[in-house]
Amino acid sequence: MKANVPPQALVCFSEYNHSLKPVVQFIFIVLFSMTSLSNIHAQDLGKILHDSHDVFKEKTITKRRFGHQTLVNRIEVLKQHKLFDVSVATKSTEGRDIYLVKCGTGKIKVLLWSQMHGDEPTATMALMDIFNFLTGEHFQKTPENAPFLSLFREDLLRKCTFYVVPMLNPDGAEAWTRYTALGIDMNRDALALQTPEGRLLKQLVLDLKPDFSFNLHDKNRLYSAGQSGNLSTISFLATAFNQQEEVSSNRKKAMQVIVGMNQAIQSYIPNSVGRWSSEHEPRAFGDNIQLWGREWDGSLILIESGGRKNDPEKQYIRKLNFVALLTGFQSIINKSYKKNNLKEYQALPENSRAIFDLIIRKATIRKGTITYQADLAINRTERPVKGKDYFTTSAAIEEIGDMSVFFGTDEIDASNMEIITENEIALGSKADFQIAKDGKVVYTVKNGVIQN
Ligand SMILES: [Zn+2]
Repeated sequence: MKANVPPQALVCFSEYNHSLKPVVQFIFIVLFSMTSLSNIHAQDLGKILHDSHDVFKEKTITKRRFGHQTLVNRIEVLKQHKLFDVSVATKSTEGRDIYLVKCGTGKIKVLLWSQMHGDEPTATMALMDIFNFLTGEHFQKTPENAPFLSLFREDLLRKCTFYVVPMLNPDGAEAWTRYTALGIDMNRDALALQTPEGRLLKQLVLDLKPDFSFNLHDKNRLYSAGQSGNLSTISFLATAFNQQEEVSSNRKKAMQVIVGMNQAIQSYIPNSVGRWSSEHEPRAFGDNIQLWGREWDGSLILIESGGRKNDPEKQYIRKLNFVALLTGFQSIINKSYKKNNLKEYQALPENSRAIFDLIIRKATIRKGTITYQADLAINRTERPVKGKDYFTTSAAIEEIGDMSVFFGTDEIDASNMEIITENEIALGSKADFQIAKDGKVVYTVKNGVIQN
């Protein structure tokens, strides 16, 4: 049995399959699909979306570093599609177009923006995939899911109006920096409003009064979900609007939607979904939008993409964004989020910094005439190559000593082994050395990467 078809539909349908005429069969499919649409659990919808994501994946974007022109090219395609109402919402400081893409005809207003920080593009990729999903043009490539997904899509567009600003900070995206071209962190500009991009965001929120806002970011890839060795691949936050971290009606809804999104992705990244501390930052947009939203019961949800082993281009994390957002929308249109327990939100582990790229444990180190035993914690720092879509990395020793409370994405047990290097082992020194046992090299570490 295919897991992506609701089991009750299969059982019922197969009993009648041979005797009913095609039209009646079609009605049955529609009825069963509609039933399943309202009842389907976040995990089941998550699985369908997860397994069919490749069909919707925007093929012109395969790496996380892409510039404004890549977005412009996609926008030109969307403009040709009658579903989308595309406008230039404003110009960035350096004169680049910032777009607002509107689609759907429903009463529920959903506002999403990505890449407020220029070097945080994962959700922008997922938004391009969601646009592809919403066109409805790709369902034939996933025939077993097509009847269900097609109804889901229609339901979304009938019940919601989506307002999407992909790449809110195009100047930062071009320069691969967090900041806008003025050197301002837009997420500290919600009160001062010195950036044209920040002014646009505030204006959109106050004009539209969205029922749900999604604030989409990336975070340092080495955050852990709790004090653990699990990377916080995705983290959520129902941002607090005051220092007391009060749970108002709109903030509570944000927490409940997050519970459903977590259920949808948890099985793919077990224990790697985190939660930010809800500490209030009065200058940030998320905090203020949650505050302003109290007026019309509008909820704000923060989603941050972190790191995942063997996913340097964050293409799997892009898929998780696609799954989380669409399941979030589904819980909004059928109001299933209302059943979600806030305890599940509170139980998400808070993000922490417990992980290094590489930890070498209990190595014997020589320094002049002194010999000692220590752990070495190494991180690889990434630097963008100007005008290119790739990065260089340089790895350095960040900590020396007892690292027993920390975790490495990669680890070497170097008990009874000795570090061999031309350079002295020191804080900040390059992570290039060999590890030998009884004079025989067992591991070679080059630029922080184990070679063998
Ligand atoms: Zn950010």
